[in-house]
Amino acid sequence: MQHFPIFLSVAGRRIVLAGGGGAALAKLRLLRKTEAHLTVFAKDPAPEIVAWAKSGNLRLVCRAMEPGDSTCAVLAYAATEDAEEDARIAALARADGALVNIVDNLQDSAFITPAIVDRDPVTVAIGTEGAAPVLARAIKADLEERLPQALGRLARIGKAFRKMADILPMGRARRDFWRDYYFSTGPAAAAKGGDAVDVALDDLLTHHLTRTDGPGRVAFVGAGPGDPELLTLKARNAIDRADVVIHDRLVAPEILELARREAVIIEAGKEGFGPAMPQDDITQLILNHALEGAHVVRLKSGDPSVFGRLDEELDAVTAAGIEASVVPGITAASSAAADLGTSLTRRGRNSELRFITGHDMDGFADHDWRHLATPGIVAAIYMGKRAARFVQGRLMMHGADPTTPVSVVENASRPDRRVLDCTLGTLSADLDDADLRGPAVMMLGIAPRSADISLSEFPQAEEVL
Ligand code: SAH
Repeated sequence: MQHFPIFLSVAGRRIVLAGGGGAALAKLRLLRKTEAHLTVFAKDPAPEIVAWAKSGNLRLVCRAMEPGDSTCAVLAYAATEDAEEDARIAALARADGALVNIVDNLQDSAFITPAIVDRDPVTVAIGTEGAAPVLARAIKADLEERLPQALGRLARIGKAFRKMADILPMGRARRDFWRDYYFSTGPAAAAKGGDAVDVALDDLLTHHLTRTDGPGRVAFVGAGPGDPELLTLKARNAIDRADVVIHDRLVAPEILELARREAVIIEAGKEGFGPAMPQDDITQLILNHALEGAHVVRLKSGDPSVFGRLDEELDAVTAAGIEASVVPGITAASSAAADLGTSLTRRGRNSELRFITGHDMDGFADHDWRHLATPGIVAAIYMGKRAARFVQGRLMMHGADPTTPVSVVENASRPDRRVLDCTLGTLSADLDDADLRGPAVMMLGIAPRSADISLSEFPQAEEVL
């Protein structure tokens, strides 16, 4: 992060801006929303600026900026659209101790003005370090649509009510109250108009004070293969509400970022043959938090029901009388198929699809090798990297064709994904050479589509080794 976002106190302070054209207008539209004292220096100001000056919104000085003009200013904008003049102004303002922004000159600016979604007092600032203004605008448009116009009003009324709500115990009880207010009762009351919001707040507080605290609950949630956009909306909501998130080692950090700041995040890792938290400890951890009344999200990579020991944890939770739910996720095989630009089933090739594991609790897992060795079979082999030589040996022993395609997809859906395009005969040697460090799924019986269609049509599969 090269730029640290802060909200600057500008009420009653000075902001100066030099320029009277389009760039100046764009900044002034934002700055006029603040309670700062605005002074604009422009030899030839646009009519809007003249009108704003007349209505007392800002002070207009119809000449170029001179030394001393930015005394006591907290911020200064050089927006003359003339690089030399902007540099002169910036130097003057810097000398006066102001933070300077030169429009369209990121390098010489001390700060950036973010894209803003204004629901005063709720303000969302979006910045991309100047890298992608188009993206910032798209995010802004998205938020503008999503955040109700009444949000600002709700926040103002809510702020005045804070002291009253403090009667609720700190933590979940209070959070639940405010969540109800902002996302359910509040918007509905705001739509009615009048003093409906104040009345609704009183009723809501009574309701929350008198309700008996329910027990905790556990949601077993699929985090998908890594790309946060592959989370389901249900998963997103569950993470959003969780008091405690207990996650696999494979769950991507970007997804954990989505949890509330107050949420307790616990890694309960089990990965391949590596060190592991014993399953009983994980189960106990889930139970302890849920029995204390927490909303627990047990976050598992991919789909929780695929090689995730879901049933063991689910059994323990339901046996303890705790409410449980399962939110499915996109499993690694589906994501790998997307990265390969290909289909898991194909008419005339395979009418079945197997998900198998390379190893189980007893070591390398045994399977119906004879069946798996038949031509046209498609199987996704999870946890198979270390078992590759074993799998290869067993399949060949049962007569599998060494030219059978095997695609190994590492870090499916993630920016650092890699695709290893092998055949059964070369699988273990290719894997040794590639030295894959991330989670990888081996797709027996399918090749990347790039074999017959240009890869550029599948920008997702960035690299084929
Ligand atoms: N429940 C998970 C699987 C857990 S087992 C799911 O449905 O995807 C862990 C194995 O899943 C890893 O060893 C690897 O084989 C596979 N895996 C998980 N995430 C992956 C990813 N992003 N890319 C490739 N394989 C992945």
